[in-house]
Amino acid sequence: MGKGPGCVLCGHMCRVDRSGPSLGRCGAGTLVGFSSSLIHPGEEPPLSGLVGNGGSGTIFFSRCNLSCVFCQNWQISQANQNTRDIGVDELVETMFKLASMGAHNVNLVSPTPYAFEIAKALSKAKIQGLSIPVVYNTGGYDSPTCLAMLDGLVDVYLPDAKIGLSPEADENDPDPDSMRLFGARDYVKYNRLALKEMKRQVGHLILDGRGLAAKGLLVRHLVLPDNLARTDSALRWLRDHLGADLHLSLMAQYHPAHLIKVGDNPEYRSYPGLGRPLSVREYEKWTDFAWSLGLHNTFVQDLEAATQMRPDFDKPDVFN
Ligand code: SF4
Repeated sequence: MGKGPGCVLCGHMCRVDRSGPSLGRCGAGTLVGFSSSLIHPGEEPPLSGLVGNGGSGTIFFSRCNLSCVFCQNWQISQANQNTRDIGVDELVETMFKLASMGAHNVNLVSPTPYAFEIAKALSKAKIQGLSIPVVYNTGGYDSPTCLAMLDGLVDVYLPDAKIGLSPEADENDPDPDSMRLFGARDYVKYNRLALKEMKRQVGHLILDGRGLAAKGLLVRHLVLPDNLARTDSALRWLRDHLGADLHLSLMAQYHPAHLIKVGDNPEYRSYPGLGRPLSVREYEKWTDFAWSLGLHNTFVQDLEAATQMRPDFDKPDVFN
């Protein structure tokens, strides 16, 4: 089991008993940290569908196992503001509520610390007749134990591939940059294992007749200023190990959110690019690169549109 005595649900491998009193890196206990649920109109087209016609039934969890310095969800992922703890039954009810509102899918955001409870909830929900696809929307630092628990319960995996390797590094080496940027020194090692396992479980993305994701893998990569995400290495690995038919979302929406922390911390002065948005030129360079690698199922973002969907979890309506 991934939780209980010795949580190993993610690459941090804290091995703590989350029933207390000591908690692991994410701070999650034995209940599910819940922030909000809503119909999200701004995910990739296979998840949100056409504008004005449904959307993705998103459930935002608190206490992420990663701590990205620029996280746009930092109010709930790191500061745990306006969140509460819920049990498995309320999670099941929330899934059905979203389905009854016309959601195209149930989209579980930053689910990793709660994989055990999520697996229980999905088993119950599917028995009770939940029929829309379940999307596991993760930062991609999920352990093999975590993913084994979800096998057969998740329809669409939506993981990040946050960073590639520096040219001289081995993927098993601890990486000081992924530690500083995402709070995970073994990010690449566990991320690559996770992506391969997700592909083994669900295969390439399959769309239904409406162009909506029915099953499969869709990988997100957020391009960072000054190539801080090592996009060249990340995309090359994706093409070489998951195939050119992989569905990739090449994201442009980097915004210096949560930069009070970065600005206050002298360590981050070594990443001056984090203080500005991505330029059009930089983004075009990497979209061209993706095409040149043969990644022909790549979703791209309009830079301006990408900045219009920033969440504020202090507001009742998170995206308005
Ligand atoms: S989910 Fe990850 S960070 Fe949280 S306690 Fe488990 S191993 Fe640690």
